[in-house]
Amino acid sequence: MTTAQKHPFKTEVRQLLDLVIHSLYSKKEIFLRELVSNASDAIDRARFEALTHKSLQRDEETWRITITADKKNRTLKISDNGIGMTAQEVEQNIGTIASSGTRKFLDSLKTDAKSANNPEMIGRFGVGFYSAFMVAEEVTVVTRRGGVDEPALKWSSNGDDAYTLEETTRNDFGTDVVLKLREGMDEYLDAWRIKAIIKHYSDYISFPILLTAIDADGKEEPKDETINSRKAIWKKASSEITEDEYHAFYRHISHASDNPAKTIHYNAEGVTEFKSLLFIPTQAPHDLFMREGQKGIHLYVRNVFITDDCKDLLPPYMRFLRGVVDSSDLPLNVSREMLQDDAIIRRMRKSLTTKVLSVLGDMKQKQDKEYREFFETFGRVLKEGVHIDFENKQKIADLLLFHTTRTEEKLLIDLKSYVERMPSEQKDIYYIAGDTLAGLKTSPLLEAFERRGYEVLLLTDPIDEWVTMGLPEYSGKQLVAIDRGDMDLGTEEEKKIAQDKKKEAEEKAKDLLAAMQKHLADEIKEVRLSSRLTDSACCLVNDEAGMSPHLERILKAMDQEVPASKRILEVNPDHPLFGKMDGLFRECADDSRIKDYAELLFNQALIAEGSPVRNPARFTRLVSDLMVKGL
Ligand code: ADP
Repeated sequence: MTTAQKHPFKTEVRQLLDLVIHSLYSKKEIFLRELVSNASDAIDRARFEALTHKSLQRDEETWRITITADKKNRTLKISDNGIGMTAQEVEQNIGTIASSGTRKFLDSLKTDAKSANNPEMIGRFGVGFYSAFMVAEEVTVVTRRGGVDEPALKWSSNGDDAYTLEETTRNDFGTDVVLKLREGMDEYLDAWRIKAIIKHYSDYISFPILLTAIDADGKEEPKDETINSRKAIWKKASSEITEDEYHAFYRHISHASDNPAKTIHYNAEGVTEFKSLLFIPTQAPHDLFMREGQKGIHLYVRNVFITDDCKDLLPPYMRFLRGVVDSSDLPLNVSREMLQDDAIIRRMRKSLTTKVLSVLGDMKQKQDKEYREFFETFGRVLKEGVHIDFENKQKIADLLLFHTTRTEEKLLIDLKSYVERMPSEQKDIYYIAGDTLAGLKTSPLLEAFERRGYEVLLLTDPIDEWVTMGLPEYSGKQLVAIDRGDMDLGTEEEKKIAQDKKKEAEEKAKDLLAAMQKHLADEIKEVRLSSRLTDSACCLVNDEAGMSPHLERILKAMDQEVPASKRILEVNPDHPLFGKMDGLFRECADDSRIKDYAELLFNQALIAEGSPVRNPARFTRLVSDLMVKGL
């Protein structure tokens, strides 16, 4: 590869570039933050590899980022002596292969018009490099990978549909990004402007950022100067840090464009010693629900960046947090493998988890509005903790908010309030799970509860049922699914009366129930009388041990094998329909009509719970026939 070769950009990259170049976004200055941040990451990586790789070692004070503003050639160069890139890495990171972030970013534009004119969003999706094309008509990257025996490379593009790649030379490992500025972008050559941008966005970068200015005659200003203060913000006392500084650091560390909803600056002392600065974002990142690729917390060991991919530092249900943890206990030559299942990491996780849960508890108590917003955005993640963090189950359960049959759209309540307002004779905490609130609110299963004034939790998150499996009880009260098993409500005395009455009715209707069951045998395990219905004619319930239809639908949607489980059809003995059917059954033993009605009832019950009817064509025909008869 001695001559320059032309490579087309992947379609997604082209679309992205087109967007960046034609963006009318006014804060174009963020390109510098992105490039400086990449340079700083590259040095972090080199410094980490240097721990085990001699050829990468440098004197500690020589790691640096150099910005050269050349007024004569109208170029701005950002250089680092970081890790650099191999040909393969160039192609992967800034070339023909569109990162998953690029695609996600473009997808997000389709659904969220707000991001269209906000290139700040670019950083969140890990495609910040391309923001350079907002100000540059041509970008050239010269890079040499450290620690491998590969030639340096020159990548160049004017942001249209292709880039060129050729071998070149570079004295040392590291990367230069050279921007040939567009017309009207000269402000980015002014030393004062560059200093102001760095101060604003990149002051806490821990390596020195040096500025070299070359004037219009090609004369270099006499001396380089370091333009960032390099203070590791998490090491300062919180009294010395302004809110603005916290927020700017948050945006830097998490590539975000929002402000954090909460800042947690926490230093642990004693058995484990570390400093940490954590943030709860306002907006959810695009990959919140993906198991892979979650890089939240940057782990440092005594000021040396180790990794942003230490999965064990926080439990997975806190993966919405962003920030830094700087340990004084871990050895500096720690390898990423060593971090797995490490006793020190485990202690740190325990300490951080306790702290975060207590901050959330506090927030819930004192900042109602903020907490509800947090829960709306991240509650689904937090909930997972009930299932996986046995030790903190109680604390997490206290943090959960729920819709119920009595809450307004937005005003969810916690389990404590639910229990406090339970009528004295109510024994258990009741819930029902389904796809939508509207669907759940009209479920026939709720009738008996409503009549008694019992509140029922309405669960619509796909993981809610899994969560309840992990939380069999709260404050001594069992959590009971109202669509499962036999449901007898009321006092012992009331129950006895109801049961006697039901027994009697069952005795009378025995043959009809058996006939219905025979006709529905393929789908239904049992047809029985219900004590949970008042207005509706029928409903479907599950066996005590059965899977709910909601969970079944979710598993099917995920292409999971779902064991075929038959359910129970409950009919309301007090509903006129049942009386009529009973009459019909006694009068004429016309089996086919009983069959039709049984099918209609079964399908009605399916519709009421939001499941599809079994045979839509036959169902509509039966309904039409009935209508003809009735009209
Ligand atoms: P992000 O930094 O969010 O991952 P970018 O588009 O800014 O996204 O960069 C893409 C990738 O290119 C980086 O993850 C990194 O691997 C590589 N890269 C960018 N700049 C540099 C640099 N100065 N030195 C080494 N690698 C770099």
